Amino acid sequence: MTTDVLPSPDLDATPPVEGESPSGFTGPRSGLPPYEKILTATFAIAPFVALGLLIAADQPFPWFAVVLTLVLIVIFGHAITIGFHRGFTHRSFVPVRWLKNTLAILGTLAFQGAVIGWVADHRRHHRFSDRPGDPHSPYWKGDEELHGVGGLWHAHVGWTISVDPTSREKYTPDLLADRDLVWIDRLFVPLAVLTFAIPFGLGYLWNGWAGAWTCFLCAGFVRIGITLNGTWAVNSVCHWFGKRPFATRDRSTNYAPLALVTMGEAWHNNHHAFPRSARHGLLPRQIDTSARIIRWMERWGWVSDVQWPDPALVEARRAEAS
Ligand SMILES: [Zn+2]
Ligand SMILES: [Zn+2]
Repeated sequence: MTTDVLPSPDLDATPPVEGESPSGFTGPRSGLPPYEKILTATFAIAPFVALGLLIAADQPFPWFAVVLTLVLIVIFGHAITIGFHRGFTHRSFVPVRWLKNTLAILGTLAFQGAVIGWVADHRRHHRFSDRPGDPHSPYWKGDEELHGVGGLWHAHVGWTISVDPTSREKYTPDLLADRDLVWIDRLFVPLAVLTFAIPFGLGYLWNGWAGAWTCFLCAGFVRIGITLNGTWAVNSVCHWFGKRPFATRDRSTNYAPLALVTMGEAWHNNHHAFPRSARHGLLPRQIDTSARIIRWMERWGWVSDVQWPDPALVEARRAEAS
């Protein structure tokens, strides 16, 4: 294995070496192209504009659009937490082929970027967590140290337009070797169109053009805004507020109020302590719907080699920290 290739799925166990380039590219850093910054900023703001339009429309409560929004949040959100994060980034389990492709397509419909780039950024986050080079730490922007609200803003949303691109060759050689995932990665633009077309079409069936536009705004833009902010809150809030039952080499935290809406990802200190674990809610009474679904999928034979942590090891790591 060459040093150019990320050596282990257990990223937190392999700290960066002196002089290692966080992005994986050598030479001077280049930022995102301007068109990508404009598009990203537009889609970050659009859900709030859509919500304003829906309220201003003064229509009867659009129950169909709201239910559709919730259903899509649950489906696409779990595709991110189970598929993009636990499955593809950390290899917490091995899915059968149809499930792998389904998770990749549904996760792409969440509109958080194409699958391979998503995984590359997140693996980089684990490798350089809360150090210079972390793409979205509240404490660092490149080599610049951050403080207070400015740091939280950067970790939440600011990084999406200021981060330097991450090398897919360094961070995701396993995904680049998977022809299915490379194809789905290339299909980002048509899938991005589809994620708006689905609510528009279903809305039309529900209530004609008025229903189509209502669902387009609510189950399209507002829904995307909710899932995006849920994921971003793990990057910002869960490296800032909350408890640290495990000693990790970053500043990750568990933040219980976000557990349900993030589908178990807010047990983020647990996750940094046991990055490969299929379950993030490791301690009693820690709700983790993603882990529950992975357990069901294991029973149905859809996933194998699931990484369930040894309770004795969890207890030992916890005792170490107290
Ligand atoms: Zn992770
Ligand atoms: Zn983290």
